[in-house]
Amino acid sequence: MTPHAEIEGFLTRFEERVAPVEKAVKEAWWRLAITGTEDAQRELVRAGMEYNRLFGDKAEYEKVEGFYEGRDALESDLLRRQVEVLYRTFAGRQGDEGVLERIEELEARANAVYGNHRGLVGGKEVGENEIREILRNSGDEALRREAWEASKTVGREVEETVRELARLRNRLAREAGYPDHYHRSLDLQEIDAGQLVRIMFSLESATEEQFRELKVNLDEKLKARFGVETVMPWHLSDPFFQEAPEDAGLDVDRHFREKDLTELTRRTYDALGLDVRGVVASSDLYGRPGKNQHAFCLSVGREYPYDVRVLANVRPDAYWMNTMLHEFGHAVYDKHINPRLPYLLRTVAHTNTTEAIALMMGSLADDPDWLSAVAGVPEAELDEVCGYLLWRDRADKLVFIRWALVMFNFEKALYENPDREDLNGLWWDLVERLQLVERPPGRDEPDWAAKIHVAVAPVYYHNYVLGHLVAAQLRNHLEERVTGGPFFMSEVAGRYLQEAVFGPGARNGWEATVLRATGEKLNPDYFVKSLR
Ligand SMILES: [Zn+2]
Repeated sequence: MTPHAEIEGFLTRFEERVAPVEKAVKEAWWRLAITGTEDAQRELVRAGMEYNRLFGDKAEYEKVEGFYEGRDALESDLLRRQVEVLYRTFAGRQGDEGVLERIEELEARANAVYGNHRGLVGGKEVGENEIREILRNSGDEALRREAWEASKTVGREVEETVRELARLRNRLAREAGYPDHYHRSLDLQEIDAGQLVRIMFSLESATEEQFRELKVNLDEKLKARFGVETVMPWHLSDPFFQEAPEDAGLDVDRHFREKDLTELTRRTYDALGLDVRGVVASSDLYGRPGKNQHAFCLSVGREYPYDVRVLANVRPDAYWMNTMLHEFGHAVYDKHINPRLPYLLRTVAHTNTTEAIALMMGSLADDPDWLSAVAGVPEAELDEVCGYLLWRDRADKLVFIRWALVMFNFEKALYENPDREDLNGLWWDLVERLQLVERPPGRDEPDWAAKIHVAVAPVYYHNYVLGHLVAAQLRNHLEERVTGGPFFMSEVAGRYLQEAVFGPGARNGWEATVLRATGEKLNPDYFVKSLR
């Protein structure tokens, strides 16, 4: 048998085994999200274990490794790409069985702690939403401080679990020949560690001055509002300073209060010639007790016509408008992947490319042109908020990047040495340097462990950052080279996205996808320019 025939045979048998299980996992995930029942929880765990078992055969993995090592000799690009994806799918699930099980247990435990932990404010237990509510609205400084501190108490409860997870992940990484989990994880995500460091470093210096200016202005307002000399972390409007504080005086939600957000979503995608009616019909968009309170897009199975669903809890406000456009951005991508591609490639090129589409679409909710043309907001109303919306878009991006830099640098250091004694201090050194937020005097708490991503979505945050960079570069390309005007009013832009981004699926890696879609390699300049 030629290597070509052997690999083809392997892929066919693999697809037969993996397709039904993968579909069952997605279906179980959906059912859990819409019902929240214990029954659904059990089914998800069962399907998840069955899925992981598909990769447990050592002899089979060695075979896949062999295909991967010999991939350069393959004549077919399509086959080579499948081998690369196959190899990474297997490699991410290899390692000592005991360690893998322990990691799964600890992640489940950490997830449960984040889900169930309640901080205390005024002697009463409060959840995340209540804390966010206080930090967004309260004028009572003592209450704010208590709420902020309460938001961090989960850190102590999970600190040891997070450190243990980091040690175990590092063990798997070292067994596989990597220096640590950070490097293994990036490699499995097809991201070059050196390139990522360069991108992050260039973003740090490119945003330095503008962020400082923004923070000084923000601080002036906060000092006046709270009558204080120094701005402390609890004066900001969320526990980690991930977003720019809202201007309470300007009601941007009013544009959506009387609107049907699903209808606006449909209209937005219609203008691009991308029909989302099928997705709307299989989605679950409005809140209900027992239902997952967040939002996501899910593709169930890889059979054509694709079964793509969105879960949301729509309310008529700006936040949910952005979220709907965001999730349906993921959905149109999934929906338009070329069905003739082989199974393993019938998916998005990368997390960062689908995030790019979602971010580009979501941001329309704050775009004055979109508000006027699609949402039908009267000009007079727009004039009042236009300046604020433009400020806010820029401020949000700046604040987000500086926060993402904290996460990036912290995780890198965590995996270099999960046992270092000064993680608490290191976290605050980064927060002070990058976010210009002052550490409360004498604070020595595991505040880093209060961020759920550090525990259960490790080495992932950079994908949001890359998503922003790809979105800016793609939008620039669309408007400069394809439509010559706002991309969202153009079916030509919709067709271009289908052909250049969605259709090829995972046929090429993310870098090649960006290059083909925008005519150049990923370049942070477009994003940096959008901050001016
Ligand atoms: Zn997303």
